[in-house]
Amino acid sequence: MTEVVQGSATLAIAQHNFDRAAKQLKLDPSLAAVLREIKRELIVHFPVEMDDGSFQVYTGFRVQHNIALGPAKGGLRYHPDMTLADARALAMFMTWKAAVVGLPFGGAKGGVIVDPKALSATERERLTRRLTTELSLILGPDRDIPAPDIGTGPQEMAWIMDTLSMHAGYSVPASVTGKPEVIGGSYGRTAAVGRGITTVAVQALRDSGIDPAGATAAIQGFGQVGSSTAQLLAAAGIRVVAVSDSRGGVYSGAGVDVDALTALKEEGGALGDYGGAETVTNDELLMLSVDLLVPCALEAQITGVNAARVNARVIAEGANAAIDPEGDDILADRDVLIVPDILANTGGVVVSYFEWVHDLQAFFWATGEVNARLREVMVRSYDAVRARSQSERISLRESAYQIAVAKVAAATEVRGIYP
Ligand code: GLU
Repeated sequence: MTEVVQGSATLAIAQHNFDRAAKQLKLDPSLAAVLREIKRELIVHFPVEMDDGSFQVYTGFRVQHNIALGPAKGGLRYHPDMTLADARALAMFMTWKAAVVGLPFGGAKGGVIVDPKALSATERERLTRRLTTELSLILGPDRDIPAPDIGTGPQEMAWIMDTLSMHAGYSVPASVTGKPEVIGGSYGRTAAVGRGITTVAVQALRDSGIDPAGATAAIQGFGQVGSSTAQLLAAAGIRVVAVSDSRGGVYSGAGVDVDALTALKEEGGALGDYGGAETVTNDELLMLSVDLLVPCALEAQITGVNAARVNARVIAEGANAAIDPEGDDILADRDVLIVPDILANTGGVVVSYFEWVHDLQAFFWATGEVNARLREVMVRSYDAVRARSQSERISLRESAYQIAVAKVAAATEVRGIYP
């Protein structure tokens, strides 16, 4: 049986940030213990028929960290290094993300230990449908609503929605978000994370005394989040000087052509094939002297080991836990303004919330309205986090955690402990 219970750097980061907030808020230790714990988790081992007729057993899981504010919400990740500990950490982040931007959701995360690139489309479909069936015990529009994450996208969400609908005997569009628009997906969902990052990054640049027009930015990660962030930052007048993916990246002081790089990747090319720019490694990209750095790849990229060599003035954390606590402290000493993950990358779950509401009501907003309302939520949340950070003289991360943890604590207290 695949071993899934082990620690993870991401879980340590999630717990550190929570523990600090609980202490700063002087939460009753028994209440803190309730909020720190995972409410429910389901581990499943299931067979999938491969295209050659053989069977392969996969391990998947769904973790619901906390549902005090509403149904559990969060992505499903397909990644060969996925662990239960990572899912626990990422589910905790989802609880705080929903709370900090004011959504009526709890936090969840799930995934499968698999390299999706090694599967054919039919194998991915069978894996997704069987996973959905295994997890259906705890899923549903008023219970737990999955969404895309690393290694999954609208197609997987369509298979999940169809599988749950086949079981129910009628279409249940609100059972999953990030679906294709034709079956009830929200307009603007695909670029929503990048749009949210861009909104708060521009505010943070201004708050650091940097004019966004002509400011420079480097983006680590060129998947869904990184590429849409690069496009939207460029559209906002920011000079994107470097981007990278898992194979490395490119740098040009004059700025790189984000549209050309996106087209290159869509055609299956490597970023390194782009002419007119120097190649850089992922580590070199993180060290570039830029106004804005946006890590949009995996966790723990900026740590005690390399944070002293980071030369950015503002960092917007596109990826969850891209900066570890030691990295945080080093950057704080150097006055680097960090917009934390639980605020910076909430654009996806905000538009997921819109999508869920649309599906429940069978009434949809046009793209312009979705984007405008997303912007409103991001600006309001950023301003609240910034105001608290200034009045309490704490970092944006500490402030965001305090706001989120205090809210879930208040909900738990007023509901009371059953029975
Ligand atoms: N996986 C995304 C996240 O971690 C999306 C979650 C959602 O939309 O429910 O924020």
